Parts: sequence; structure tokens; C-alpha cells
Amino acid sequence: MTNRVAITRLSAGDVEKAVREAVALAGGFDELISGASRVLVKPNQCKPSPRHSGCQADGDVVEAVTKLVLERNPKSVVIGDGAIAGYDFGGFSTQESFDTSGVTDVAARLGVELRNLNADQSVEVKVPGALVMDSVRIAKTVLDSDVIISIPVLKTHIRTHATLSLKNMKGAMPGAEKRKSHRLGLDQAIVDLCSVVRPHYAVIDATVGMQGLWQYPDDTREMGLIVAGSDALYADVVGAALMGIDPARIMHLQYLAEKEGKKAVLDAIEVVGESVEKNAKHFLMGFEVFQSRYPDVHIVQGESACSGCTNELVSAITYMKQAGFEDKMKDLTVVIGNASDIGARGKVVALGKCAAGLEGADAHVPGCPPKEDAMIRTLCEVCEADADVVMATMAKARKKLWDDSSSALKQ
Ligand code: SF4
Repeated sequence: MTNRVAITRLSAGDVEKAVREAVALAGGFDELISGASRVLVKPNQCKPSPRHSGCQADGDVVEAVTKLVLERNPKSVVIGDGAIAGYDFGGFSTQESFDTSGVTDVAARLGVELRNLNADQSVEVKVPGALVMDSVRIAKTVLDSDVIISIPVLKTHIRTHATLSLKNMKGAMPGAEKRKSHRLGLDQAIVDLCSVVRPHYAVIDATVGMQGLWQYPDDTREMGLIVAGSDALYADVVGAALMGIDPARIMHLQYLAEKEGKKAVLDAIEVVGESVEKNAKHFLMGFEVFQSRYPDVHIVQGESACSGCTNELVSAITYMKQAGFEDKMKDLTVVIGNASDIGARGKVVALGKCAAGLEGADAHVPGCPPKEDAMIRTLCEVCEADADVVMATMAKARKKLWDDSSSALKQ
């Protein structure tokens, strides 16, 4: 593990060349992978999304990394991930994430096993020097791997500012455990998780990134870059800087650096290849985008608020707006997580298990996370909007998304 992080730029759209250059500049896989290694390639496959939308690590990057791994003739290689909390329980699934990112085809083409970590056996593991999680359940496939290569995509995150190769390891936990990490304090929980399953190498898919609310195509950011490093902490510092985010604001990077006696700052890193300064862009944060897109909706987040409720809410509100009910959402306050002082005004809707029993709420949507249909119906009832019209708008928008994804996959 070194402090060197490589940045390469795609030339003529050649992803494989850029990945090979980045990994070589960052020191390669020679010392990491031997004939005895059991390797897990761990791409971020958080939720089904169109290719090149910036939401998931793309099949092209996963393919290039997996080829490099296979060239070392390891004992075994698995490509695995588990989609975010709330998936694989009906609705979208990890398999659909693999399908839409192109990773299913990559695994078949390269003859590598593809594994849904949400459906894997899991094992409770003690966390050494835990900050908030004394123990954590981890998918057995991850524990059985000697080498973990994390492939996140360059994205902002509504709770942790950035989600990169360390936070990508959340896919190693089963769904309920992912939610537990939010309740306990996400940044500290990521450090605890990485104390057990720290990635051995990071290759960040920065070909296309995503900002704000992760809404495609509005929040997609073209970057044309690959970032690689043998120390995932330093790779993430560089990834954050490329999004214009000060790494000092990303607490899990700071906590982990402190635990390992390092500094999560650019000055501590030898950046090779392209420079951060020339290639950085300003990515907007989730709430900046939310406020500009939905100025009349007020969101209150408690400590335990997580992307489960947040994602469903953003999608519900988007479809209500698309259906023509933006005016009806004036003075709407939505509470996520265990907030106590909501400072609410107007109509108040409390979301999920965390906000159950909130005083002063006009309505509550149960679940963890609540089902999207139930959320839309409750919000519509409180705002006096026609839920059937919103549901029909959602079905139409979803169909278009899937049709676009399918035609991109065929190409
Ligand atoms: S209720 Fe919502 S905010 Fe709370 S843990 Fe569940 S999904 Fe996250």
C-alpha cells in the first residue's frame, strides 16, 4: 500500500486503456494478487440505473479491472455486490442492477461468477477498536476473499458528502445491517466496517459522475477519468477533490485516517498522471439541488436519516411534480429519521420506522424504508393531489427509463 494515486483520462472513449494506465501508474496488481489469491471485484451496484448515468460503476470499467485481475491467474474471482437497503425485498433487485450496468454480460463474457451479496450467507464479526459498531454482519463471500478491489463511481452523497471506495463496502452487509449502520452514525460505522473488510485496492469509475439527488440525466456529470490507488483512503481523498469537495468535510475519511495514523488531505498523496486541479469540477450537494428543484418542500433530517427514506422521498416528490402537483406541495414538511425539534410548518409527514410517533405529524408512512406506493399515496392525501395520476406518471417514467436502458444494453 502506497500513498500514490493515479488519475488517467479516457482517450477516444477507450475505458480499458485508461484503467490499465491508471492501475499501472498506481503500482499495478503484481504484488497484490498471486496464484493463491481469492479475489472479490466489488463494483458499486447500488440500484438499477441506465448505463453511463453515473449512478453505478459501469460494466466497461468492471470488465477492464476484472481482466487485469484474471491476467494474474488468481485461485478464484467473484464479482459481487448487494444493492442498497430496501432492495431485494420486492421491487428492484441487485440482479437488475447488474443487468442495467452491463456487469451481468461482463461476468458471462469473462467466465467469472456473479454474486448477489444480499442473498449470500452472512457472518457476525467483531470489530476491533470499534467506534460505534461492536460487531457487524458481513457476506461470507467478502470474508472469504483475500483481495478486495473496490470499484465505486464518483458520486456525492446526501449524508456523507461523498460515496467512494470505502463507503462502497456497505454492499458487503445484508440489508438490515446497512440500516443499522445509519442508525448508529454512518461515518463512524463505515470506519468500523472497513476495519473488518478494508478494500485492498480502489479503482474509481470517474468516467461519469453523479451529484445532487442522483436524478438521471439532470445530476449526471461527464468527467472522462479513472482514478486508481492501492490505498482506498487516499484514492477517496483524490475522488472527493475531483468533485470539488474538501476531504476535511468527509468524516469517515478523517476518522479512518486518524485510526490508521494518516492524514486524509491531498498534500499527503503523490498524485500521478492527470492533475486534480485541471480536472476537478464543482459537484452540487444533495440539499443544494433539492432546494433549487423543490423550493417549497421542507425536509427535516434526524441523526438516523438514511438514503432508504431519502431516495424514496425524492423519487415520490419528483413524480408528484412531473404529474403537475408542484403547487399542492407548498408548505409541505417531511421528516426523515429520529428528529425531535422539527421546526415544522404547514403539512407534516413523518417517514419510516425512525420517525414513527412523531408529535405533530399529520400523517406517517410506515416501513423501513416505506414502500414508494405508500409514500406517494400518503403525500398525495396530505397535499390533496390525485395519487392515481402520480402513479400513472411514475409507471410511464419508469417504462421510459427501462426502455432507454435496454436499448443502451443492446448497443
Ligand atoms: S426508517 Fe427510513 S431513515 Fe430510518 S433506517 Fe429505515 S430507511 Fe433509514
